[in-house]
Amino acid sequence: MSDLTYRARSEKDVWDYLPEFASEQLPRYTSYPPANRFSGDIDAAAASSARARLPADATISLYLHIPFCQKLCWYCGCHTTVPTLADPVETYIQALKAEIALVASDVPSGARVTRIHFGGGSPDILSPQQVDELFAAIRARFNLSPLADIAVELDPRGVSPGLVQAFANAGLTRASLGVQVLNTDVQKRINRIQPKAVIEDAIKMLRGTGVESINIDMMYGLPGQNIADVVETGLFAATQDADRIAVFGYAHVPWMKKYQKAFRTDDLPSGETRFRQAEAAARTLTSAGYMPVGFDHFAAPGDALSTAERNGRLHRNFQGYTDDASDALIGLGASAISSLPDLFYQNTRDTGAYRACLGEGKSPVVRGLKPTREELSIGRLIEGVLCNFEVNLDADTRKAVYPKLAPLMRAGLVGLHGTTLTVSARGKPYARNVAACLDPGFAAKPSVHSLAI
Ligand code: SF4
Repeated sequence: MSDLTYRARSEKDVWDYLPEFASEQLPRYTSYPPANRFSGDIDAAAASSARARLPADATISLYLHIPFCQKLCWYCGCHTTVPTLADPVETYIQALKAEIALVASDVPSGARVTRIHFGGGSPDILSPQQVDELFAAIRARFNLSPLADIAVELDPRGVSPGLVQAFANAGLTRASLGVQVLNTDVQKRINRIQPKAVIEDAIKMLRGTGVESINIDMMYGLPGQNIADVVETGLFAATQDADRIAVFGYAHVPWMKKYQKAFRTDDLPSGETRFRQAEAAARTLTSAGYMPVGFDHFAAPGDALSTAERNGRLHRNFQGYTDDASDALIGLGASAISSLPDLFYQNTRDTGAYRACLGEGKSPVVRGLKPTREELSIGRLIEGVLCNFEVNLDADTRKAVYPKLAPLMRAGLVGLHGTTLTVSARGKPYARNVAACLDPGFAAKPSVHSLAI
């Protein structure tokens, strides 16, 4: 096996469009093995014993999934719906409280909850009273650290003083706002009209109650979107002093997400235009002083995510890049996924079935995966590639992955020097392509995953 190396290039020309790689459909690798390899072999009993096996002094992160939104955005890839009389938020919250009690009864009493993340859907659908009730349930059942990091995803249109105050009373430390795009024509096409003033007011309200950290999500690749739109949104995020900015490519998967059928394929930016939009976002944010974190996040130099990246302590979990190093991520709510040291498991996606299970005092876990030692080791390698852009490979792994890596090496995206695999500056936008080479279970199949970039 001969070493293929890449030639270092200046930071100016690292965004090279290589269609053979950019157009690959790849997993996002927020976990390994990915959730689409879970099976029904893992049940509630397996999940319960895995929780009971946590170390006596474990640190736990809780994720609460609120699968409702006031209105659906056509690009959405999340598990969510608009609440109805037959599928109301209130009974879901009662079920969620029951699951909090059920799960907490397994966890060792010394284990501490150090992070709580509310996602969805859009948790701004909760009333202030429901927020209070959920936090009261968590405090009553878990050992909640007084220094816990508490985060919530919010749609700026749903942010109100009462809601912000309820989260602030519970100790909210970070709010993540979906901004996506400011251009009103694109907003109309994606069914998400949100004037800039609404977003600015939401940020003011949050900062006014002492929320330390604001995260803004923005997107590229949306129908009718162009590079100027991406630059405008990036500059807006920077002028709002966002602490973190996540830049997501629209994932067009209408075979899985039926609302996306509202988009005409002709209106979607081409592969190269998408790539140039991602490049424009990165250049706008780095020029504004943000540090790149992983392949799609940017953070202010003093932010904990930048610090984690600099110190090699960046991680990747179901919420994307994080500095969270907890022993266990426990997902609560319909469709929520949990990641324990030796088990992944997922709750039923069906909100009706979820309520029914909890109503009978049963666990809503329906599937999962017990990773082998080899899979855990591959997971660490993939996380290393996506977080640090460098990993060490043993001889067997090098032999197995070399044929898959060779095209990327010839293109100057990765180098293999001795035992070290390094993603080049030019290869960073293609980090998921490199990760897929390390994944023996990955087989390129059209219509399964989203585009690499
Ligand atoms: S608000 Fe967020 S979760 Fe709800 S439909 Fe829009 S993108 Fe999806």
